[in-house]
Amino acid sequence: MSFSQLGLSAELLRAVSEQGYERPTPVQKQAIPVVLNGQDLLAGAQTGTGKTAGFTLPLLQLLNETPNAPEARRMVRALVLTPTRELAAQVHESVVTYGRYLPLRAAVVFGGVGINPQIDRLRRGVDILVATPGRLLDLVGQRALDLSRVEILVLDEADRMLDMGFIHDVRRIINLLPRKRQNLLFSATFSDEIRSLSGQILHAPVMIEVAKRNAATELVNQLVYAVEKERKRELLSFLVGSGRWKQVLVFVRTKHGADRLARQLERDGINTGVLHGDKSQGARTQALAGFKNGKVEVLVATDIAARGLDIDQLPHVVNYELPNIPEDYVHRIGRTGRAGATGEAVSLVCLEEIKLLAAIEQVLNKDIPRLVAPGFEPSFSLNTRNPNLPRSALPGRTQQTGDGPSRRGQQAPRGRKSGGGSAAKAKQDGGLGRRR
Ligand code: AMP
Repeated sequence: MSFSQLGLSAELLRAVSEQGYERPTPVQKQAIPVVLNGQDLLAGAQTGTGKTAGFTLPLLQLLNETPNAPEARRMVRALVLTPTRELAAQVHESVVTYGRYLPLRAAVVFGGVGINPQIDRLRRGVDILVATPGRLLDLVGQRALDLSRVEILVLDEADRMLDMGFIHDVRRIINLLPRKRQNLLFSATFSDEIRSLSGQILHAPVMIEVAKRNAATELVNQLVYAVEKERKRELLSFLVGSGRWKQVLVFVRTKHGADRLARQLERDGINTGVLHGDKSQGARTQALAGFKNGKVEVLVATDIAARGLDIDQLPHVVNYELPNIPEDYVHRIGRTGRAGATGEAVSLVCLEEIKLLAAIEQVLNKDIPRLVAPGFEPSFSLNTRNPNLPRSALPGRTQQTGDGPSRRGQQAPRGRKSGGGSAAKAKQDGGLGRRR
């Protein structure tokens, strides 16, 4: 199936082909015809599935097909709500990119930056507005915005919007919209809360659901380096340097830890940026821009700060520390290997993290191959099948003490296409235990 078979206009097809997209992703295949048909949509799709183009492309086409009434020329016709500023900025970027050959105007508003330029922008007239809920309500409060002509509402990452406590804001915003409108709701999960929200907002929606990110993780080459805790920073610098890694997203657990690691990496001569909740909006935007254009080689981030980030085909994700919640591991590595591109997710794991590793492998339902970098041999082995491991280390899993089929020797480190990566040079730790 090609994009042209989905009924998109020549202008949109041109913009899509300039992005290098050859085929629609599953969510695009399913969502685009529904939206073009004017129906409400409830879509289960996560970041990385191509969902943004899935709603942006048909939305642009619908707006372009039905020009606005002259008296409503400056009023917002499509409103996209997102939970975070970064996601808002990314969605706006997509709207601009895909709408390049259409005479529609898009703007983005979010908190943390001056409100006056946003007011000026709105006064000049906007067809498609991408917004975070709080700032949107501030703008309404300042009478800078009239939402009474909105034809299409998109709630992007609705589950996260609820998690972040935006439900009241969202309800207030919906009350400002005309009753008759098209509604599109995207959510990674279908919790009871999401079902109840969609019941209130959507009208006879078409439901679609695409593969969970768990399935997308199949595209990611996952590796674990067993390493002493105090040598992690040195190992990271070594991996980045010897593998000539560019665009490395490194996850840490705390803001303080993020700052400290970034300083150390800078001292090692690696251009490093930091993304966490205490950074000003300006600093965050700058770090992200530097990372996207390649000036910043390593971006150190906390889980919250990295949510919803969309960086094209990120080649390397590093778990400098494993997350407490196994699902966060899946979210983290979902930053790489997106929409068809393969990526590599490397975890630097010390002995204290063995329980976390066991829990992650249980969620993944597979082992992650272990490696040891030459010169970084640890004094321990990351054996999650170790019969002596306390029961609490293996949540909900039956311990296996028997000799299951060993994968030892079957998982030789993969070679690299270029750059002589350190992972390729590293030897596999044959002494590490395996579980099925
Ligand atoms: P999203 O899930 O909207 O955050 O999109 C994830 C990534 O997939 C973005 O970097 C898009 O540029 C990319 N993408 C979207 N649609 C396609 C497509 N049909 N083919 C290849 N890449 C795509």
